[in-house]
Amino acid sequence: MEKPAPIETVSEWIAQAQRIIVFTGAGVSTESGIPDFRSPGGLWDRYDPEEFYFQRFVSSEKSRKMYWKMHAELYGLLTSVKPNPAHKACVELDRFDRLECVITQNVDNLHQEAGLPAEKVIEIHGNALQVGCLECDARHTRAEIQGWLEAGEEVPLCRKCGGLLKPTTISFGQAMPVDKMQEAEGRMKRCDLFIVIGSSLVVHPAALMPAYAKASGARLVIVNLTETPYDDKADLVIYGKAGEVMAEVIQRAKQLIVT
Ligand code: NAD
Repeated sequence: MEKPAPIETVSEWIAQAQRIIVFTGAGVSTESGIPDFRSPGGLWDRYDPEEFYFQRFVSSEKSRKMYWKMHAELYGLLTSVKPNPAHKACVELDRFDRLECVITQNVDNLHQEAGLPAEKVIEIHGNALQVGCLECDARHTRAEIQGWLEAGEEVPLCRKCGGLLKPTTISFGQAMPVDKMQEAEGRMKRCDLFIVIGSSLVVHPAALMPAYAKASGARLVIVNLTETPYDDKADLVIYGKAGEVMAEVIQRAKQLIVT
């Protein structure tokens, strides 16, 4: 008997699933025009990653100036890009009433912009469009801060307490958000299908996620351009572009779920 094509198989598993978790990394957003930070021409080619350690940010005015200069550049990119079919596929899974949540390493807000409710997106590395005070936890939108930067402020300070402001993204050397990690782990215990999209699965804690999902008995699907260390443990691996693959998967799943 001929084996079903991988797209067909994932679509069937989606139709059979009740609680799907999608785990996304930088690769889900490259088709939107956000490059991997480490690729040639990316941000780390022009800025020294050493400058962006959390300890440097809190201890050095020079590092804070550099950090905000880089973030002003990133803001221009993040406010000009749009969600692609892979982000929209996650919204469709929610419409099928099968999405437990998306757990993302990305900080670009594109899952929410595609139409996923904020409570369905667990951002384990934070969000570059939200800014918090490191002292009093006051929150600001990134748009508000951009106005201050454009008015000439090099290092914006909290208007409430004078503390250091920083996007809610997790910098090198900064602790992971315990509440979000606990929520992600709790939800993974309940999922029956775990789909990784666009992550090399080498950065911690991403590297642990597929193991959690397998331990809870979920099927593991990986959609990525290149190999990952988990490929031989996955139930199915599709090497391809996230947007193209997921658009096909959703189109087929729609037929299975409607009929
Ligand atoms: P990574 O760079 O380690 O891996 C990205 C993976 O995506 C690679 O294996 C690559 O082959 C694959 N990929 C690239 N384009 C793809 C496509 N069109 N379709 C399918 N796969 C594709 O990224 P990571 O594992 O996500 O970790 C990097 C860290 O950098 C993350 O923690 C994230 O916080 C941060 N980051 C975020 C963004 C963003 O928010 N958009 C962008 C760059 C980096």
